[in-house]
Amino acid sequence: MQVLKFSINGYFCAMSLKTVEQFNFAGKRALIRVDFNVPLDKQFNITDDSRIQGALPTINKILKDGGSVVLMSHLGRPLKKLKDDGSVDYNKHSLRHVVKRTSELLGKEVKFADDCIGAGAFQMSLSLKAGEVLLLENLRFYKEEEKGDAAFAEKLSKHGNVYVNDAFGTAHRAHASTTIVANYYSEANKMFGYLMANEVASAEKVLKSNDKPFTAILGGAKVSDKILIIENLLNKANNIIIGGGMAYTFFKALGGKIGNSLVEEDKLGLALELIEKAQEKGVQLLLPIDSIIADKFDAAANTHSSDSNNIPDGWMGLDIGNSAIYDFTQVIMSSKIILWNGPMGVFEMDKFQQGTKAIAEAVANVTKNGAFSLVGGGDSVAAVHKFNLADKVSYVSTGGGAMLEYFEGKELPGIKAITG
Ligand code: AMP
Repeated sequence: MQVLKFSINGYFCAMSLKTVEQFNFAGKRALIRVDFNVPLDKQFNITDDSRIQGALPTINKILKDGGSVVLMSHLGRPLKKLKDDGSVDYNKHSLRHVVKRTSELLGKEVKFADDCIGAGAFQMSLSLKAGEVLLLENLRFYKEEEKGDAAFAEKLSKHGNVYVNDAFGTAHRAHASTTIVANYYSEANKMFGYLMANEVASAEKVLKSNDKPFTAILGGAKVSDKILIIENLLNKANNIIIGGGMAYTFFKALGGKIGNSLVEEDKLGLALELIEKAQEKGVQLLLPIDSIIADKFDAAANTHSSDSNNIPDGWMGLDIGNSAIYDFTQVIMSSKIILWNGPMGVFEMDKFQQGTKAIAEAVANVTKNGAFSLVGGGDSVAAVHKFNLADKVSYVSTGGGAMLEYFEGKELPGIKAITG
């Protein structure tokens, strides 16, 4: 395995990751697992093509070397989201809808096989010439894909003599195309694409860097979704900032009055345990001292500020308040490594976006001062885009669930399949 030095927005990382960078694809047919699970409107137009854009460097490198490319992906959950009559909606979930845009972005024709393991598909992949690209139909039209079926994976492997995984978003799933297929390639012929390598390198940078302080900012609705990540980060972070709806479970556990704020009654004991563990380990756990409270969950609600542990009956905390913004900003601005997952409030409504916006700005500012910042998880990613700050942080992760599991300390099967 070679050591690769590459940069993420100016950060040079030395990683033992086998990637396409070190491989010469001349005369090879690369089977690439991409994540083309793009959002489509009712007319099947792509409303956000960033996942396709993310795969372009890997595809282009292989083509430039003189290789050919077979792309495979899933799109939606066709076998779970059935039509009203119980049948599979093949048209709605067809990857045919992404062919045109992929062709435009690559600047060349993309051929399409209307089945991923049919005889016609193999005829097409086996006759690809150097520089040609083929996209296979949705892998999830077969139940074998999500089951990680070995025979299905073996069939898929016949499409290419080299396997490249560039789909970080599904790396936490042991599906046929993300994990099992790798068993049918020798160590020399399986590797990561650039997108995947950048994801792994930036997550490793956060977890393994000697730069301190390391501050984790966790928000969002539920403590239960974030327990494992908090527990794991208690061993690594210097500061853990907790905002969003999940903060009120901690306030209630500490004996505070939280009105109608979001709470998980069955997690009160756990919240106290996490506070105690943080104390034992010398980790500073910060809660938002004040909140913007509302008389209903509504964009037009009446609002005012309140101490977070003394919210009147009938009112609920929907954003962090000014003192909390001040406290959190101070900690963020003195940090060298930042991990941010989850918004500070109901940022989708203008009245409750202030806290999330201020934190996004603080993360952008400390990044400008030289810190490394990784933003991941659907809603915090949506937030940095909403506030036009996505290019002001070091790295925006494309994988919600995969990223969470990585920071929970789990080994991702899609990564292990290649690193061994
Ligand atoms: P999650 O998927 O757990 O990261 O939660 C993200 C969601 O949490 C967003 O849709 C936010 O609107 C919501 N959220 C954040 N803060 C609050 C809060 N104080 N009360 C209710 N929902 C919240």
